[in-house]
Amino acid sequence: MVNKINSIKGFYDVEPDRQKIWRHFESICLSIFDQYGFEEIGLPIIESTDLFEAGVGTHTDIVEKEMYSWTDKLNDDKLTLRPEGTAGCVRAVVQGSLTYNGPIKLFYRGPMFRHENVQKGRQRQFHQLGIESFGFGEASSDAEQIIMLSRLWKKLGLDKEIYLEINSIGDAVDREEYRKELIQYFEKNIDVLDDEAKRRLYENPLRILDSKNPKMQDMLDKAPKLIDSINEEANNHFKSVCQILTDNQVNFKLNKRLVRGLDYYNRTVFEWITSGLGSQGTVAGGGRYDYLVEKLGGKPTKACGFAIGIERIILLLEKRSIQNSIQSDVYIVNLGNESRNKAFMIAELLRDNDYKVSVNLDSGSFKSQMKKADKSNAKIALIIGEDELKNKHIKVKLIRQDGSQTEIKENGLVDFLKKNI
Ligand code: ATP
Ligand code: MG
Repeated sequence: MVNKINSIKGFYDVEPDRQKIWRHFESICLSIFDQYGFEEIGLPIIESTDLFEAGVGTHTDIVEKEMYSWTDKLNDDKLTLRPEGTAGCVRAVVQGSLTYNGPIKLFYRGPMFRHENVQKGRQRQFHQLGIESFGFGEASSDAEQIIMLSRLWKKLGLDKEIYLEINSIGDAVDREEYRKELIQYFEKNIDVLDDEAKRRLYENPLRILDSKNPKMQDMLDKAPKLIDSINEEANNHFKSVCQILTDNQVNFKLNKRLVRGLDYYNRTVFEWITSGLGSQGTVAGGGRYDYLVEKLGGKPTKACGFAIGIERIILLLEKRSIQNSIQSDVYIVNLGNESRNKAFMIAELLRDNDYKVSVNLDSGSFKSQMKKADKSNAKIALIIGEDELKNKHIKVKLIRQDGSQTEIKENGLVDFLKKNI
C-alpha cells in the first residue's frame, strides 16, 4: 500500500464548507474597507530575516522562538516566512515611497507563519487581514480603525460576543522611565515570577504584564501602570481616542495592563476579545506605531494599524450556521446524453445573463436528480428530457415556492427567470 502523506502539523486545508464562511467574511470586510477608503496592497510572503528582527523586535515571542527562518542555499540570504504583516507593509511603503503624495490607508490579507504550540485557534500557518494607516498622527485615525472594526462585528452578527480593551503606552520617553520602575517592582517580587518572566526581566519587562500565568496575576495587577505616568500630549491623545469612541457608541474597557507583545507600539494599543475561544480569545489587535517607519529607513511617518486573526473569527462564525453565501439560482436536471448537451448550452446562455447555474453531471434517475436540485439551494429547477428536446420546451419547477411546474419555450427562459428569481 502507498503511504498516505498528510499535511504538516499546524498547517490546514480550508475545506469548502469553511471556505464558504471565509468568503462571506472577506466579502463583508472588503465592502466595509471600501466604505472607509482603505486600499489593498499585495505583499510577499518571504522577506529578509533582518526586517522582522528590526521591525518586530528581537525580544519578542515572534522573533525569539516563532519564526520560520532559513539560509537560502544559492546565495546565503537569510530569509523568513512572514510571521506578521506590519513590518512587510512598512517596508513596501518605504521602498515604494507610497506616502510621497500624502497619507495613505492600506490593507493586506494572507497567510502568516509562526512556529508555536498548536491548539484550537492557534495554528502555525494562519491568516490575517490587516489595516495600516500611514501619515496620520491624530487620534481620529486610531478611532476610525476601531469604529470600523465595531461596524464589522455588527455586520457579522458578532458584536454581542466580542468586546474591546484599550490602553495607552505613551511615547518612548515614558516607556524608558517606566521600564526602570517596573524592573524595580519585579525585582522586589522576584519570588513570584515564573521562569519566562525572569528571563524577560531585563530584556522586555513590559511583556511580563501580558502573562496569563494565574500565579502571577495578583502581583501583576498591583504593578505600577504605565498609563498613569505618560506625558501630557500622549494622555490628551488617548482621551481624544476614547471620546471619539464614546461619541460613536463604541463601548470599551480600559485595561491598564494591556501592552501587546510587539516592540514597535506607542500610545494607543487595543485588542478585541471574545470569551468564546478559551485562551485564544484575542480576535484582533493593533495600535499606533509612530517610530517604525523611521526605524525601517523611511522618513518619520506616524502610523497605526491592526490585524484580524481570520481563523478565530471563522470559528465564531461557524458556531452559528450562516446561510451558504454561494447558491445556485438554477439547477438543470437532464436525462440522457442529448439532454445533457442541451443542458450545457442552456446553462451557458443563463451564465451569459449572470445566473449561477449547476448542471446535474451524473446519470441518476429523475427522482435522485430532483433531490440534488433541492439540496443545492437553487430557486428553480429546469428539467430537460426527451419530450422537452422534441418540443423545444423546458419544464420549470419553482422549488422554493409552491413547487409548481410549467412548460416554457426555450427562448422565453431568460425572461421567465428575470420575473421569478
Ligand atoms: P496571542 O496572544 O493569541 O498569541 P498575538 O498577540 O501573538 O496573539 P498578534 O501578533 O497581535 O497576535 O496577531 C493579531 C491576531 O492574529 C491575533 O489577535 C490572533 O487573532 C491572530 N493570531 C496570532 N497568532 C495566531 C496563530 N498562531 N494562529 C491563529 N491566529 C493567530
Ligand atoms: Mg502570539
